[in-house]
Amino acid sequence: MSQERLSVLVIGAGLAGLAAARVLHDAGTEVRVLEAGDGVGGRVRSDRVDGFLIDRGFQVLFPAYPSYRRLIGRGGLPLVMLPSGAAVRQAGGTSVVGDPFRDRDARRDLINRDVFSAADVMRLGALAASVRLAPLASLLTGPDETAEAYLRRFGFGERAFERFFRPFFGGIFLDRSLGTSARVFRYYLRMLIEGGAARPVGGMGALPARLAQGLDVMLQANVRSISADGGRVTVNLDGEAVTADRVVVATDPAEAQRLLGVGVPKGSKGATYVWFDAPEGVDQEARILLGDGKPINDATWISNADKGVAPAGRALLSVTVLGTERDEGEVETAVRSALEAWYGEQVNAFKTLAVRTIPHAQFAQPPGIHGLLASPQTGLPGVWLASEATRGSSIQGALASGEQAAAAILQDANVLGRARGT
Ligand SMILES: Cc1cc2nc3c(=O)[nH]c(=O)nc-3n(C[C@H](O)[C@H](O)[C@H](O)COP(=O)(O)OP(=O)(O)OC[C@H]3O[C@@H](n4cnc5c(N)ncnc54)[C@H](O)[C@@H]3O)c2cc1C
Repeated sequence: MSQERLSVLVIGAGLAGLAAARVLHDAGTEVRVLEAGDGVGGRVRSDRVDGFLIDRGFQVLFPAYPSYRRLIGRGGLPLVMLPSGAAVRQAGGTSVVGDPFRDRDARRDLINRDVFSAADVMRLGALAASVRLAPLASLLTGPDETAEAYLRRFGFGERAFERFFRPFFGGIFLDRSLGTSARVFRYYLRMLIEGGAARPVGGMGALPARLAQGLDVMLQANVRSISADGGRVTVNLDGEAVTADRVVVATDPAEAQRLLGVGVPKGSKGATYVWFDAPEGVDQEARILLGDGKPINDATWISNADKGVAPAGRALLSVTVLGTERDEGEVETAVRSALEAWYGEQVNAFKTLAVRTIPHAQFAQPPGIHGLLASPQTGLPGVWLASEATRGSSIQGALASGEQAAAAILQDANVLGRARGT
């Protein structure tokens, strides 16, 4: 089989599937992506609602992600950089915390007794230096523990945990307990320190849309089963069978387990997101606002960083409430009453644009998670797994898993081609 004639079906047009398809397509392989949904992006999609641009759940892009750099690169996707600090909201007012080299207000509030003591500031320096100076790969190796245990070894005070670490990293891992693996924590911190956080112009959905450019993607193609026989792989859609030389399964982990019988990491982290249309100027803050978790974990006036997400004269506020147990109406009411403590009666003028519960935003990543990740090899000949399940539950994990599966297929095809002299 020559590499030019190799045909590959990729199941799933999330970031993992699109990354795999992108690499294979760019290497000259014939690739078709089969996606069950009505658009590309999987968990990373954006919608227009009443003239506002709303992502499906609040998430940001770390431009330092190595796979993002390889696949899209500098200038490949217009980005709006987000402020590097966070604003801690509490009864007495707001304190700014963040990188003192990038954020003037964070420099001013450097020794802010409301969040960090003077000793904590020294500890932050030590934490940042240890994460920044270590070789990147080493951050994901070595003995594992919870992020909380790791931070406690630096000696941070209780206020630093309650007012900064829990809400800030709780918003990233969708878990305020800081029970996430310290390896994962260190990796994210390094990404933040190296490249900050950004949103693509056009919303998070612009990232998968960019990856999908020029690819053959078939939407509303729900794959029911896969079988392999005689060097070909057969994929069964509703009432139709398609064959290919190779198949990449790039679905969410639960569906990959159903299709392939492979073991995948268990447990889901989810959240409920409330989006408001508000009058412009209620709050000029563009930094993420950190709450006490009752019920607001964090909130962001997205239009203060990116005017393009709201119609003229209006502002877009996104609020994150961790967990998915509560009824959406109950969450919305509780969020409105917490916002009243911040903004008073102005909240009466806020219109709710959407309330969305996302039960599986990420899988749980407790200490030891790396030993539980799935292999890209599936046991079915010619079938590879590309999913966050193989590399970690994140944009980087999904993109890297796609790159990895594509590289394995290309290498395999080259080896076979050389053996046959084609
Ligand atoms: C609200 C939220 C916040 C997040 N925050 C962050 C963050 O701050 N930083 C970060 O790095 N990551 C974050 N993540 C995680 C990150 O977005 C995901 O890890 C990543 O997008 C997963 O990509 P994936 O391609 O592996 O899976 P998915 O996005 O789930 O894609 C799988 C695709 O397969 C399709 N599919 C499933 N079954 C079939 C079938 N039988 N046939 C055909 N198609 C099928 C699905 O429709 C879907 O399009 C967040 C996610 C969410 C939702």
